Amino acid sequence: MKDELKKRVIKGPDGFEFEVDPMQDYFCEEPPKEHPPIYVKIVEDLFNWARSESIWILGFGTGCGAIEMRPLMTPRFDAYRYGVQWRPTPRQADLLMISGYLSTKTLKRAIRAYEQMQNPKYVVGLGSCTINGGMYWDSYNTIKKLDEYLPVDTYIAGCMPRPEALLAGFNDIKKIIRAGKAEGANEYAKNFEWYKKNQKQVIKDWDMPDYNW
Ligand code: SF4
Repeated sequence: MKDELKKRVIKGPDGFEFEVDPMQDYFCEEPPKEHPPIYVKIVEDLFNWARSESIWILGFGTGCGAIEMRPLMTPRFDAYRYGVQWRPTPRQADLLMISGYLSTKTLKRAIRAYEQMQNPKYVVGLGSCTINGGMYWDSYNTIKKLDEYLPVDTYIAGCMPRPEALLAGFNDIKKIIRAGKAEGANEYAKNFEWYKKNQKQVIKDWDMPDYNW
C-alpha cells in the first residue's frame, strides 16, 4: 500500500526541502465530507441516548423551589439512579436548572453561567415563577417569562413542584434529548440579537462582553 502512495516534497521557510512519509499522508487524509444518512442517524441517536442518560445539573438556587432539589440527592428519591447528578461549575454541567423566580440581578449571573456552559446544553425552568412570574407577577425586580431571556427546553410547573414532579421533569427532558429535539442552545445562537436585546432591557448595569459565538 505504501508503494502506491505518491511521495510529497515540502519546502520549509528556510528553503530546505524534505519528503513527507507517504504513510503519514495516508493517515492524515481528509475524512469524507459526507456520510451516508443512515450512518449519521445511528451516531446521532447513540450520542443523544448517551446525553440523555447522563444529565449533569448546574444547581442554580434562584428561588424557593431550590429547596426541593436537595431531597433528590438523598436515598429516598435518589436521582443518581437515573443518571442525574449535580455539578459545582458551569464548565462541567449540561443542564441549567433555574429553580424559581429570577431577580434582574440574579438574571445577570444566570446568563453568565449559561454562556460558560459547553454545548450541548439545556435549560429547565422550575416552578410557576419561571413560566409567568407566579406569585411575583407584579414585582418590580423579577422577570416574568424566563424564555424571553434564556432558551428554556422544558418547564416543571408547580409552586413549588415536589421532588416527584422534578423526577417526572427529568424524564421529560430525557425524552426530548433522546428525540434530538433539545435545540435550545442552537435557538439561542440563532436568535442571539433578540435575547441580548431582552436581557439588556432589564439589566441596566450591563457590563459583560457579549458572548462571541
Ligand atoms: S414558583 Fe413558588 S416556590 Fe417556586 S420560586 Fe416561585 S413562589 Fe417560590
